[in-house]
Amino acid sequence: MDARTPLIAGNWKMFKTPQEAARDAAALAELVKGVEGVDVMIAPTFACLVPVAQALEGSAVALGAQNMHWETEGAYTGELSGPMLKAAGCSHVIIGHSERRQYFGETDETVNKKIKAALEAGLKAVLCIGETEEERDQEKTLNVLDKQLKDGLKDIFPGSGEDALVVAYEPVWAIGTGKTATDDQAQEAHAFIRKVLAELLGKDLAKSTRILYGGSVKPANIAALMSKPDIDGGLVGGASLDPETFSQIVKFQ
Ligand code: PGA
Repeated sequence: MDARTPLIAGNWKMFKTPQEAARDAAALAELVKGVEGVDVMIAPTFACLVPVAQALEGSAVALGAQNMHWETEGAYTGELSGPMLKAAGCSHVIIGHSERRQYFGETDETVNKKIKAALEAGLKAVLCIGETEEERDQEKTLNVLDKQLKDGLKDIFPGSGEDALVVAYEPVWAIGTGKTATDDQAQEAHAFIRKVLAELLGKDLAKSTRILYGGSVKPANIAALMSKPDIDGGLVGGASLDPETFSQIVKFQ
């Protein structure tokens, strides 16, 4: 199997002022300085991107956004485009987070447009998918993942050998609830996701694509999750807000 560098990504959601974000980003950069063999990314709010980019200058911590629009510019009040994120210092963008699907009308179709636009802008796209509790109870998990992947990645062909696409499996029932999927539940979903990626993108790209687990990741459970063959990192919400706690997740090995 091709070696996939683990990615630990922090989703700061709607937390922190620009001043707090810059302070915490600088603290994190210091805490993870010299840590090898793992990529680190943080995604603050739009307002924090530029100050955080400045705070991260010279560090290996990458900057991501939490959302974007698919057009490059235009009359879209309140939105930001891929080229704008890139110019603000982002290398990554999270797309299709369940909170955006649940509260802001994000659909597999808009996710698809955004991923295309992100890749065109030269951003790495972190596609979030995952089932609700009700869907899991009805044993629909794999069907939901299959549809979200097939519709979200329709007609998308990231160049082979690149790491421009990242998938984050985030069971909705595990986000912010303290309930983590068991290592085996997560591995089952991740192996299935890789199988679908092979159908969509070919075996080589499926092998090299990182699949992150998200949902109540914390220092106490990251190592067990990472011991599974198809889990290549974490997308961390609550436990990413404190630099010290997040740095412990980064140093899981
Ligand atoms: P959580 O959030 O770690 O607070 O559960 C994860 C996410 O929403 O990406």
